[in-house]
Amino acid sequence: MELIYLDNAATTPLSSKALADMTPYFISEFGNASSLHEKGRMAKRAVEASREIIANSIRARSNEIYFTSGGTESDNWAIRGVIKASKNNVKHIITSAIEHPAVLNTCKELEKEGVLVTYVYPDKNGLISVEDIKGAVNSNTILISIMFANNEIGTIQPIAEIGSFCREEGILFHTDAVQAMGTLDIDVNKMCIDLLSMSAHKFNGPKGIGVLYIKTGVKIDKFIVGGEQERGKRAGTLATPLIIGMASALEETLSNRESKNANMILLRDSFISDVQHNIPYVHLNGDKVKRLPNNINFSFEFIEGESLLLKLDLDGVAVSSGSACASGSLQSSHVIKAIGVSDELAHSTIRFSLGNNTTREQMNRALKILIKNVETLREMSPLYDSKKKEGKYV
Ligand SMILES: *Cc1c(COP(=O)(O)O)cnc(C)c1O
Repeated sequence: MELIYLDNAATTPLSSKALADMTPYFISEFGNASSLHEKGRMAKRAVEASREIIANSIRARSNEIYFTSGGTESDNWAIRGVIKASKNNVKHIITSAIEHPAVLNTCKELEKEGVLVTYVYPDKNGLISVEDIKGAVNSNTILISIMFANNEIGTIQPIAEIGSFCREEGILFHTDAVQAMGTLDIDVNKMCIDLLSMSAHKFNGPKGIGVLYIKTGVKIDKFIVGGEQERGKRAGTLATPLIIGMASALEETLSNRESKNANMILLRDSFISDVQHNIPYVHLNGDKVKRLPNNINFSFEFIEGESLLLKLDLDGVAVSSGSACASGSLQSSHVIKAIGVSDELAHSTIRFSLGNNTTREQMNRALKILIKNVETLREMSPLYDSKKKEGKYV
């Protein structure tokens, strides 16, 4: 039975082209990009070519791209680095209640250190309002951090509007663009973005490599100290093969992006309407339109999300309940709760996230398997049974 992998928001498979491009840099071209001899210079040239590809993809300059170990480090560095570099006595951050834990937990840690944080709540569709952000600003606000697109419910935030507001007010603007990279058009200049996080393994690149874009002139402290790599801002020997793989995967993802997006949107929307037509008592989470092309998120009444996930897994369909980071714990997702879904229904949530190569045939098979398992689990639910007997549900 072929696996139907619908968990691409958690991670994606490595592109075989990226793997082929990386491989020599593990073996024959193993030089340290900081070494002065030919092996080192060879590695350095390859790193700089990759840096340029990544910079171009967001309309940044090469010297504004800093390699990190991934999205989590980029988020930690952006927020902590800006706060540490600020000389204000009182420091205030505005972020949203639906950020990735890499942002939320960094803010929580900073709160313990005396930094003030406002968490703006989204509307019931998961959209952050620019007016709410404006309302939260005060004279001590140093940084606003709002994700480009949400990893659980796929909502795309009004980044350009938030950016231009921040620029007018002289407040730094960071966006976690990990889910948006490779899918959405990003222009750091037009959108007035000062700091942006990305991660290669979310767009078919290798795990363990990411980037923090830092606009020229932004005051930010070091996060990892050591040698003088990355213009003295981020120490550690550069992960040459991973960097090559990241740029290669990004280039590949961006080639014919429009047609790949159009295809995912078709599959996404027909799956959503098929679920709504074939399964009663389901709720779509997130906005219907301002939504990542690959994101589907449903709550199924009378069903425990983890049970459904395990059933689907046995039938060869890989999905996620809540987020990869929230699952494992029995807490329901902070994102689903922030959009006002009841605790009970929040526990009934499943995310299906498509990849570049997901096919209609796979989605049709996944739908059949989903319908079957939802029915089986509901038949086992005493609550569903009693509701049926009351004549409330048929
Ligand atoms: C996956 C993800 C991260 C973390 O990136 P890693 O490279 O896995 O550390 C951060 N933010 C968002 C929105 C993500 O989806």
